[in-house]
Amino acid sequence: MGFSKLKIPRVCEHCSKSFEAKTVTTRFCSVSCANKAGKERKKLEKKQKEKETLLKKYSNKIAEVQTREFISVAEATIMFGISKDTLHRLIKRGMITSVNLGVRLTRIRRSDLEALFTSVELPPKKEEKSKPNFEVGNCYTITEISEKFHADPGTVNNVIRRNKIPTKKVGSFVYVPKDEIDKIFANR
Ligand SMILES: [Zn+2]
Repeated sequence: MGFSKLKIPRVCEHCSKSFEAKTVTTRFCSVSCANKAGKERKKLEKKQKEKETLLKKYSNKIAEVQTREFISVAEATIMFGISKDTLHRLIKRGMITSVNLGVRLTRIRRSDLEALFTSVELPPKKEEKSKPNFEVGNCYTITEISEKFHADPGTVNNVIRRNKIPTKKVGSFVYVPKDEIDKIFANR
């Protein structure tokens, strides 16, 4: 008889229970789990297929809605994935243009919605100020600046403050990026 004596430790893909499998391809601890897993997979496949069928079925409709100027509330909820309540609120606030052709016949301007949903306000981009380089060799101390540019330390400090030059204090020394200082004193 060809029964295998193998016992391979496994974890059931359906119930996550550990069990000993007889073959390397066993994925489930029991027939019941295998069946349930099979059913679930089939259900998922069916759902996916239904979705595809629906999309295919309505592709013409979707294409048409995409190009029409005014769309219904129902169409808007589908196209933009928002609730009717939200839509009505937007209309009430005057954020989108709508026309009322009668009871339950509100039509919304599609471009208004598109603008609303694409104009994501980004926070104003902060001027990307290059990080001050405080590496030794790229910095002056106040004394160095004062000597190099023949300005007394008080003036140097004033210049730094007035020009909002970043500084770094290490012990009793104040380090200032050379390039910033050179730029300013070059113009004096
Ligand atoms: Zn199981």
